[in-house]
Amino acid sequence: MVIPVSDYNGNLKLEVGVNRSISFVFRNNTPDSIHAIRRDPGNTKEPSVEIPLQRWVRWVKLESGIRDQIQDLLRGNYVEAKLHLGGLMYFILSSEFRCVQFRQHYIRVENGQKMVNATRFGVSMSFAEFYFLLCNVEEFCAKIPQLQHVVPCYRRRQHGEGCRECYPFKSFASVDQWS
Ligand SMILES: [Zn+2]
Repeated sequence: MVIPVSDYNGNLKLEVGVNRSISFVFRNNTPDSIHAIRRDPGNTKEPSVEIPLQRWVRWVKLESGIRDQIQDLLRGNYVEAKLHLGGLMYFILSSEFRCVQFRQHYIRVENGQKMVNATRFGVSMSFAEFYFLLCNVEEFCAKIPQLQHVVPCYRRRQHGEGCRECYPFKSFASVDQWS
């Protein structure tokens, strides 16, 4: 399948909807991160987030799990899933809000209990946009050969028990848990 990937100001992008795309951001001619959702010029209202490549790679590796959740959701089952991508960034699937999100979180302490809460910094994608991304993500990533050398934090040497990338909230959950 040929996917509509094109150069945009030096970046490689995948259009997922009208004036909405996901793109690789290059710095010093090296792929540095993923920009979702990239806005077209003139559109300054829509939010966007930059996802470091090691988190993007982690998300891609978990794609089959995400696919199962999406299938469940499309079958009409109720799905609320939150997947930790690293640092304060979560990926969220939500029947209630009819969208998926890449969203920054923060920790709130209430009655001595730590709780992870969403901030307003993040992007939402409709299920249609997201399904399009899922169908094309492999081909999209293949355009960036350097991606093969990027590994998620938990496979890096500096990763350890106190890793702030993987355990930013400490008492919260291992990186591989859906919650
Ligand atoms: Zn780590």
